[in-house]
Amino acid sequence: MSTESTAKTHKFKAEVSQVLSLVINSLYSNKDIALRELVSNAADALDKLRFEAIEKPKLLPEDYTARIRLIPNESDRTLTIIDNGIGMGESALAKDLGTVARSGTREFVQKLEEAKKAGDANLIGQFGVGFYSGYLIADKIEVVSRAAGSKKAAKWSSEGQESFTIEPAEREEAGTSVILHLKEDHADFAKGWKLRELVRRYSDFIDYPIELQVEKTIKGEDGEEEKKELAFEAINEASALWTRPDKEVTKEQYEEFYKHLTHDWEPPLLHTHFAVEGTQMFKGLLFLPKRPPFDMLNQEHKHGVRLYVKRVFIMDDCEELLPRWLRFVRGVVDSDDLPLNVSRELLQDSVLVRTIRKQVIRRVLDALAKLAKDDEEAYLGFFRNFGSVLKEGLHFDPSYKDKLGALMRYESSKADSLTSLADYVSRMPEGQKDIYYASGASSKMLASSPHLEGLKQRGYEVLYMTDGVDQWALEGLGEFDDKKLVNAMEAGLDLDGSKDDKAEDKKEDASDEGSDDKKEESDELKALLERCKQVLDEHVSEVKPSTRLTDSPVCLVIPQGGLPAHLERLIRSHQQDMPVQKRILEINPTHPLIQRIKQEHEKDAESDRVAGWIELLYDQALLAEGSPLPDPARFARRMTDMMQQTAGA
Ligand code: ADP
Repeated sequence: MSTESTAKTHKFKAEVSQVLSLVINSLYSNKDIALRELVSNAADALDKLRFEAIEKPKLLPEDYTARIRLIPNESDRTLTIIDNGIGMGESALAKDLGTVARSGTREFVQKLEEAKKAGDANLIGQFGVGFYSGYLIADKIEVVSRAAGSKKAAKWSSEGQESFTIEPAEREEAGTSVILHLKEDHADFAKGWKLRELVRRYSDFIDYPIELQVEKTIKGEDGEEEKKELAFEAINEASALWTRPDKEVTKEQYEEFYKHLTHDWEPPLLHTHFAVEGTQMFKGLLFLPKRPPFDMLNQEHKHGVRLYVKRVFIMDDCEELLPRWLRFVRGVVDSDDLPLNVSRELLQDSVLVRTIRKQVIRRVLDALAKLAKDDEEAYLGFFRNFGSVLKEGLHFDPSYKDKLGALMRYESSKADSLTSLADYVSRMPEGQKDIYYASGASSKMLASSPHLEGLKQRGYEVLYMTDGVDQWALEGLGEFDDKKLVNAMEAGLDLDGSKDDKAEDKKEDASDEGSDDKKEESDELKALLERCKQVLDEHVSEVKPSTRLTDSPVCLVIPQGGLPAHLERLIRSHQQDMPVQKRILEINPTHPLIQRIKQEHEKDAESDRVAGWIELLYDQALLAEGSPLPDPARFARRMTDMMQQTAGA
């Protein structure tokens, strides 16, 4: 710690200390990334200055060339990384290097602790530790910085423990110098060969020259002694990766670029690199990560595409280029046609931007379709991680429903693993017209749900919708391959091939024909249905005969377009005043128990016993679908009574 009187000591914010200890304790086997992260920061600072200078050209000194310099010093055991970018003033130093600005840091650190206990150390990769990774190789870091447009410079200094100091300093030009005092066992970071190797491996694609300070020997003329001189030598290719033709970029370079962009440690799942030419020219390089970022489901989660205009960085997280349902996509879009001083407002109603967005969506969906075709297992891995987000697209952007529908995967009554709708259709037996699905809290519960008995008996497969977003998503999808998606738990399902209202007509037809037996039968049933409705009036909106049941006596169905019971419960837990949705009780007229109750009802239309049974049936229907009972104690008492009667106790 500095002892100068002008130096002010600041405490790190709690989350910085946590991140620092994570760096030291979890990342020790990945030391090389320290250089990558610091070079990335330098490149970002150059991007920012280039952007600011569009409006304020005075920020750039005469003869300005953006560059990053690496100065190794073996004898002092230091490595200095210098950029002439946007720089930081005193307060920016304290803020940017004294806090972790990213939202959700605390939550992340907690998740990481849990993951570590479960033996999963990869999670940390999702949260680039950025600047602090310097402490992997250094035991002290000094940062001397001067903000562009200001004359004052300041020095930040810390040993990466609890505090840092800030004091006034001198710096000739705007920009930042990061001085790493290397740990003894990382002295090789002060060696030229090591730095060349790391830059080639990790940072070759950076759009700015990365120059290494080297000692050149100058031959003496005519007997003069040899001289040694310090000079800078560019050690990277310095052309933006996305501007290079796809064929010239190696897999490793794509991977490293992705890591530079995202701070992820793992390589991406896939990338798509494209150049669009014609009336509009733009390039795109997009990536899908392997794992979801820990805060993906959070509405605050940022968009992942960076916008460049003619290779000038314009903004991070450009949401106009990417719908929210593709928020897991990372990458770069570089337009030749947008103006450099493009504003948010302009982006929002620009036709150019809309065209780019369409291309971005199409490229991503095509890349996913290709993955699904080439490597189903990898695709399922993707779908398990990101499927819920992708499904939102069906709801918000139904114009993509054909492409999205083909990418959906669901559990089902027939498939062992997730199945596609196309595969479902290929398995449909003759006579089946619609695609059936059921929604509930888990596929296990759905598998034994009474609602599906009739479908299963006919050999019809049922898709299980267990994801909270499924219901909304499916409304967007509506149909697939010209086949309607039909909710097997909704009213109106008639497996005998006629709609409910037609069933009514049929009954009337039957009476016209004078079939007395049938008429009597349906009148008796009608009377029982009415009794049921009267007993359960408080709970159900209607009582109807069912064609979907085979083994069970009753089930509860939702009105058409209604909410599945488990979702209704979920919503009510947040929104207590939501009106209760009364459901429809369906009764299996052929079930022996129903027949028996019907007889009893014929004998005594006021029978208390029948009323008790009807209530029990209703409670059973609730239990079978995993819903809570209105009065569990009463149910238990009834069951006991019945068992006692049967057992003769
Ligand atoms: P990240 O880069 O992910 O935001 P870091 O911890 O690496 O996180 O850096 C924190 C902030 O410090 C950056 O967002 C940036 O504002 C600032 N910063 C870091 N390095 C530099 C640099 N070389 N020049 C200017 N600002 C920098």
